[in-house]
Amino acid sequence: MKLAIVGAGLTGLSAAYELSEYFNLKIFEKDNIGGLASSYCPSYCIEKFYHHCFRRDEELLNLIKRLGLGNKLVWRVVRIGQEFEGKIYPMNTLYEIIRYPGMKLLDKIKLAFFTLKCRKMKYSDFKKYDEVSVLDGIKEDLGEDLLNSFFLPLLRSKFGNQYGEVSYSWLLARVAIRSNRKRNGEELGYLRHGFQQLFDRLVAKVETGNVEIVKQGVYKVENCGKWKVNGEEFDAVLWTAPVPLLSDINRELKSKSGIKDVKYQSSVCVLLSSDETVTEDIYWSNVNCTFGAVVEHTHFMPFEDYGENLIYLAGYTHPESKLMKCCEKDVIKMYLRDLRKFGMEEKEVRWAKLFRAKYSGPVYESGYLNKITPYRTKIKGFYVAGITSKPNYPERSMNGSVKAGMEVAEVIKKDFGF
Ligand SMILES: Cc1cc2nc3c(=O)[nH]c(=O)nc-3n(C[C@H](O)[C@H](O)[C@H](O)COP(=O)(O)OP(=O)(O)OC[C@H]3O[C@@H](n4cnc5c(N)ncnc54)[C@H](O)[C@@H]3O)c2cc1C
Repeated sequence: MKLAIVGAGLTGLSAAYELSEYFNLKIFEKDNIGGLASSYCPSYCIEKFYHHCFRRDEELLNLIKRLGLGNKLVWRVVRIGQEFEGKIYPMNTLYEIIRYPGMKLLDKIKLAFFTLKCRKMKYSDFKKYDEVSVLDGIKEDLGEDLLNSFFLPLLRSKFGNQYGEVSYSWLLARVAIRSNRKRNGEELGYLRHGFQQLFDRLVAKVETGNVEIVKQGVYKVENCGKWKVNGEEFDAVLWTAPVPLLSDINRELKSKSGIKDVKYQSSVCVLLSSDETVTEDIYWSNVNCTFGAVVEHTHFMPFEDYGENLIYLAGYTHPESKLMKCCEKDVIKMYLRDLRKFGMEEKEVRWAKLFRAKYSGPVYESGYLNKITPYRTKIKGFYVAGITSKPNYPERSMNGSVKAGMEVAEVIKKDFGF
């Protein structure tokens, strides 16, 4: 049996890991192995987009261990900050939260109760709010002040100008999974020296089986009795690339497959090196400018691993925005100009690189839960998994993609009698 896998991101490679024993596999990758979690590798490897993991990431952590990388996993309690009127305030301990000037005390208390309420909710509870817009939900439950002072900046930073379309169920689910903090901050994990090692091991492992990985974009998928990908015959196809790209290649196939359209956001991220830092010790600062977060990687992992301070300026936008279209130099210039607000001058930046992804995750718009992509489509032999699969709700993550890859592999094995 011969199976084509489109995309060598975590979904495609995790599926290949599970399927290589049963099928002859050919994995097509248009750009870089690792996709959204791929890295720059000069003298060390660093992800193009910031990446960390969580203790609850069961499938990812198991995979890391099965690939012999368990000893590379490190856990750190990181510090989080929030900008208010051009200054970044730490928001980790109760004392710091009380001192934060951007919110009234009563709103802080309301927020604490809201967090507790979300933590007690189950999937069926979130589902009830799927058709409610996040703005209406917050206004109704927490009031306009909290919406404006706290949630709007966060939503803008996470969804760019598409924030108004997000469903309230997404917010509730997200607060539920992300509010389990330690007393002095949030605990995050990392694969010391980079997640690139995970991809290197995955590739090495699958290539010991009947697997061929080719650096070739898929430009044609046809079903004429047998499946044909770029003209080559297969028994089945697993699509793990963004769904809109399938429409670009074969609109009819996409529409017959029954996969629903979902709205995507884009990511625009500058990684820079500097002798200076933006904050003293904060890893993640939510800010209000062209980018939505300053992520100081070397306040998470040791400076010695890199020999320079590495800082991400992470922004989200929509696929047709100016930030996605204008040239690399201009975006970097725009981001560095805004960074001045936090005391870092362009001359203090040693180098800066830009990475953009047009389809980097769903917007989780109202009604999203009914649009989640099923693994088995309406066309026999055509499977879809990835960032719009169920395990990537309410947060697209490495764990979600590993889980989606493994779950779709089970479905395919079952359909082919294994
Ligand atoms: C800014 C940002 C930060 C993130 N941070 C974190 C984090 O801290 N922690 C975490 O757990 N997760 C994080 N994620 C999410 C995580 O990176 C993704 O969930 C995961 O890597 C997605 O893997 P995937 O295989 O599903 O999709 P992708 O990585 O998108 O893989 C799809 C692959 O398909 C390829 N492809 C596309 N079109 C074609 C074609 N026509 N032919 C062949 N190949 C094609 C692409 O090049 C790509 O390699 C982050 C994502 C972003 C955008």
